[in-house]
Amino acid sequence: MSDCVFCKIVQGEIPSNKVYEDDKILSFKDLNPEAPVHVLIIPKKHIASLTEVNEEDAEIIAHIFKTIPKIVKELGIDKDGYRVVSNCGEFGGQSVPHVHFHLLGGRSLNWPPG
Ligand code: AMP
Ligand code: ZN
Repeated sequence: MSDCVFCKIVQGEIPSNKVYEDDKILSFKDLNPEAPVHVLIIPKKHIASLTEVNEEDAEIIAHIFKTIPKIVKELGIDKDGYRVVSNCGEFGGQSVPHVHFHLLGGRSLNWPPG
């Protein structure tokens, strides 16, 4: 989508600090990190939220989860542990309407979230 900030990152119109990229997905550092390690993992295809995921998109989401072991090892957070979270819709606190998974690590994280 032309006015989507994450689509603009995918297209290189907005710069990002990339940590992983392949033909289907992209991972880059969050602009406002909430932990020593905070990256986002997104499908290159514009999907508004997890609520919109269809059969075809489900393969891309699965691909993200298959790639997480590689990313966490590269970031050095595989041993200590980490959290993957996707905020959906208004009550979920989603501010960018393009599916993304936050990958947080580098410190002990609190639970439950606020
Ligand atoms: P959410 O609030 O769950 O939708 O997460 C959106 C995240 O995107 C926030 O953590 C923002 O800090 C992050 N963000 C927004 N714009 C950018 C950008 N241009 N580059 C990197 N991260 C961004
Ligand atoms: Zn988008």
